[in-house]
Amino acid sequence: MFICQATGWSLGHVFISGPDNILRSANIWHIIAQHKQANLLRFREDSEARPFAKGEGIPGRVFANGQPEWMINAQQDPGYIRQDSIAKTSLKSCFAFPVLTGDKVVAVLEFYSSRAHQPDHALLDVMSHVGLQLGRVFERELAQQQLADSEQRHRHILNSTADAFIAMDSLGSVTAWNHAAQRIFGWNSEQALGRTVAELIVPPAFREAHQQGMQRFLSSGQASILGQTLELPAMHCKGHEFPIEITLWSIQENGDWSFFAFARDISARKRQQDELKHQALHDALTGLPNRLLLLDRLEQHLGQRKEQRSGLAALFVDLDHFKRINDSFGHEAGDSALIEVAKRLQQAVRPHDTVARLAGDEFVIACPDINSHRDAAIIAQRILDTLAPPMQLLGDSIFLNASVGIALADQYSSAENLISAADIAMYEAKGSGRGAYQLFDERMQIQVSTQLRVENEIRHALEHDKQQFCLHFQPIIESHSGDIIFLEALVRWQHPQRGLLSPIEFIPIAEETGLIVPLGEWILELACQEANSWQQRCQLNRPLGISVNLSGRQLAQADLAQTIHDIMARAQLNPARFKLGFEVTETEIMRDPATASATLQTLRELGAHISIDDFGTGYSSLAYLKQFPVNTIKIDRSFIINIAQDPADQAIVSSVVHLAHALNFAVVAEGVETPEQAQMLREMKVDYIQGYLFAKPQPSEQLLKLINQQKGRLYEAE
Ligand code: C2E
Ligand code: MG
Ligand code: MG
Repeated sequence: MFICQATGWSLGHVFISGPDNILRSANIWHIIAQHKQANLLRFREDSEARPFAKGEGIPGRVFANGQPEWMINAQQDPGYIRQDSIAKTSLKSCFAFPVLTGDKVVAVLEFYSSRAHQPDHALLDVMSHVGLQLGRVFERELAQQQLADSEQRHRHILNSTADAFIAMDSLGSVTAWNHAAQRIFGWNSEQALGRTVAELIVPPAFREAHQQGMQRFLSSGQASILGQTLELPAMHCKGHEFPIEITLWSIQENGDWSFFAFARDISARKRQQDELKHQALHDALTGLPNRLLLLDRLEQHLGQRKEQRSGLAALFVDLDHFKRINDSFGHEAGDSALIEVAKRLQQAVRPHDTVARLAGDEFVIACPDINSHRDAAIIAQRILDTLAPPMQLLGDSIFLNASVGIALADQYSSAENLISAADIAMYEAKGSGRGAYQLFDERMQIQVSTQLRVENEIRHALEHDKQQFCLHFQPIIESHSGDIIFLEALVRWQHPQRGLLSPIEFIPIAEETGLIVPLGEWILELACQEANSWQQRCQLNRPLGISVNLSGRQLAQADLAQTIHDIMARAQLNPARFKLGFEVTETEIMRDPATASATLQTLRELGAHISIDDFGTGYSSLAYLKQFPVNTIKIDRSFIINIAQDPADQAIVSSVVHLAHALNFAVVAEGVETPEQAQMLREMKVDYIQGYLFAKPQPSEQLLKLINQQKGRLYEAE
């Protein structure tokens, strides 16, 4: 307006360059009053609506060249492109000049007059100067606009982050507090600004440390927490504490420090972590600590024991006949019983004792500050007393006893061996008639070290001298004919110092330590080698079987059938001459019935004959065994020993035979030592008999001679 008044040019107009380098009308117009006519307004609309690229029309050329331009009569000038709209007006002369910031044209101003003026160089000079001045103003305006924009943007970003953003001055007073800070800490920004972070979000217990940390930093520049992401406790405006993750940094400006922090509430994450940690260290069913946590607590107590010379006892609690609850009442009832036992155990012990569940029905209690066997025994008795009252399970009243083993820590104890000592003592308690406790003592210690020695010797023999293990064979005879049908392979250990050892002395240890798996494989290998040599030398013209004992650990091996298949293939057994059989005890099957059943099925598919060994010593019934792929039941020797005198044993054996036959099982009687026993068993229609009466287990050479001499028949049928 001022320019128009000062120059006498009646109309002025500004174009501004956009980020796309196109000039557009800035809607800044000045029209001196007498020109307010309809045609002029159309010209204005045209100018406002039209964008000018570089080089296009007067504004475009000024924009491109950075030089002013003058037209004496725009209406007749071919360089003027708004001819249509200017034609109806009285405008004639036109000049335009750039607004420059440095070399850059940021705007173009154009002016019109209703007279045709010759170019006025003095006016153009002045206008160039005005353009420069305007450029500076423009520059400042732009910078301010950008600053405002960027502040606005920052505020927007800070307010839309999920993290709290807090800025503080060197005194710790809050200078910025975003929406998330309000959400997380509860204070709104009016309440927060100007107050110290210490009073707003630092829990009282940490305020002093916080202040000291700030002071130390301000005086020495040292700060351990700056530039790091930390987990710290924080306080909500309502007073409760919660964990936050906070990243802090500082900036020095004009000698003054400012502090900044991003913080987030990690309560949910912490809860999740705690939950996972809890799950990893606790038993899901009872909520008691598990083995891992127990070991940790025991190690802690052992450490304290050394420092403070206080005692530590471990009590191993195993429920008596717990399997029967599962079998008779179902697993749900079994689970409820375990939960109830867990509760009672916790009631029986002191608050600082740890009751842990190791597995199944095994619990271990860590009792710190116990120095004497007497004190440990008192706790054990209390445990037995607490478990004694009947439990109500799904409407039934049941009694659960336990056996408890106690071990006291000494200077050599580790957590693991304390538990295993208590475990050994517990077994001893079970052996001496359940429902009792037993202390781990020196005798058991010796037993443990003997076991360890045997374990090492078995391992050594398997690795370096497998031939120390050999097989003896005991015939299994068809009771009515006296024909040897099967030879049971029974392992022996030709120990370099201790002579020939019975399997009783090493099989249980091999089973416990898992060495039975490689040993069992070797036994199979031996059995198949023997079978191969019998094939050549046995003169019988009917097939003979070799029956090999399998332990539960072997049954649990997923690749057992494959192993057996490979061993049989290597031995090149002729199935027409030799049949392989396996004996498994019912107790071993019951350990994991599903796996056992699947494994036995694959063995059957290999053509093997399956027998249940030591039948009657476990708790299974024949009807239950029916679901397993089994051919034969071997009645345990304990039912045979007194059969000639004891009517109860007679009744048991006789009914087992009846039922077994009804279910399509053949029956073997083990341990037949007298002719009376043999006679009675024959009368009871037992299919096969085995025992010292006919042949003891013996090396194959000896047995082969006997078989060839007697044509495979150990007595003549009556
Ligand atoms: P088992 O499989 O029940 O074997 C029968 C046991 O009874 C054998 O003891 C045998 O010598 C003994 N026996 C046989 N007839 C009579 C008799 O008339 N009177 C008496 N008193 N005993 C008799 P052995 O050879 O000492 O084997 C004991 C147990 O060791 C076996 O019981 C079996 O469970 C296990 N065993 C033996 N060899 C192996 C094997 O190669 N692998 C596995 N896993 N276990 C084996
Ligand atoms: Mg056997
Ligand atoms: Mg047996």
